[in-house]
Amino acid sequence: MPVANQSSVIALPQPQISIVAPLYNETESLPHLVTRLNAVMDASPLMIEVVLIDDGSRDNTAVLMQQLALTDGRYHCVFLSRNYGHQIALTAGLAAAVATEALFIIDGDLQDPPELLTQFYQKFREGYDVVYAIRKKRKESWFKRMAYSTFYRLMRSISYVEIPLDSGDFSLISRRVADVLSQMPEESRFIRGMRSWIGFRQIGVEYERDARQAGESKYSFKMLRRLAYNGIFNFSEYPVKIVTRLGMITLTVAILYLIQTLIKKFMYGDVPQGFTATLFVIVLFSGVQLIALGMIGEYVLRIFFQTKGRPLYVVREVIRRQERQPISGANTVLPKYTEPNQPL
Ligand code: UDP
Ligand code: MG
Repeated sequence: MPVANQSSVIALPQPQISIVAPLYNETESLPHLVTRLNAVMDASPLMIEVVLIDDGSRDNTAVLMQQLALTDGRYHCVFLSRNYGHQIALTAGLAAAVATEALFIIDGDLQDPPELLTQFYQKFREGYDVVYAIRKKRKESWFKRMAYSTFYRLMRSISYVEIPLDSGDFSLISRRVADVLSQMPEESRFIRGMRSWIGFRQIGVEYERDARQAGESKYSFKMLRRLAYNGIFNFSEYPVKIVTRLGMITLTVAILYLIQTLIKKFMYGDVPQGFTATLFVIVLFSGVQLIALGMIGEYVLRIFFQTKGRPLYVVREVIRRQERQPISGANTVLPKYTEPNQPL
């Protein structure tokens, strides 16, 4: 009779849900996050894993994550080789998550309450592939709220996919949506737009966005602007269209002006005056042309970075289920991801 091998490692059952949170210099909020996540996991009948991604933090975040993953098998920690930015870190987390049913995407600073998992999961069970959060109230600065609000409304009017208003990355997505997201090779990622593009049944749930638990925002103005640009230039052809239209308007005005000048010259023998007007027109349209070049340049830049074919990110180490699995050498890149890198 075969005897069961006592020393064999007992395989932990596959989790149903992965909670995915990218972290960058979050030493102050991490302990709060873990407390809240533990409470959610303890109270839930679901089998849950937490995937934390260290996006090249310079503080103690990585050390805390190591301790956490080594002591609590529910935590699955991925360490990136440097800081790649939130969207890429999140992509790394989605690729690492092994949940069979759905992935719950949250920020690591507790602005997105993890307790909403139950409510989102209910919607998921009703047959929605994407349950995204709609921010009803934001406890953030007036400027930030205004900027976000304007951006989402602008995106709605120019984007070729319908991106819901006031919804960020906070969402519960099904396994198949996560798989599609992972197969999308875009290097300049705007995940909320990509999520809309994927389709299936999607629904919004309203919530009040909390203030950051501790520490300061890790998204600088420059990073926010880059995210906004990724949204506009990856999900809209409007900037190029507007350039063409501007060109046509300019041409029409120029032709009309020429006709008027010729009439004046031949019918009244009037030599056109107006050096200042000429100068003004030259300067104005030089500016317009530069803007137009810049807009087209945005698309060219995206083609440039995409054609490099670099991986999106490099993983330094993965710690999961009390097993250290240092990844080194040629295997440092997650095999599924062979897309190019985020421009620096
Ligand atoms: N984050 C990241 N990499 C970065 C910047 C931010 O992983 O380069 C993480 C950060 O730790 C947080 C989440 O992304 O968990 C959202 O960032 P943050 O709260 O700073 O942005 P805000 O909410 O202010 O827009
Ligand atoms: Mg935040």
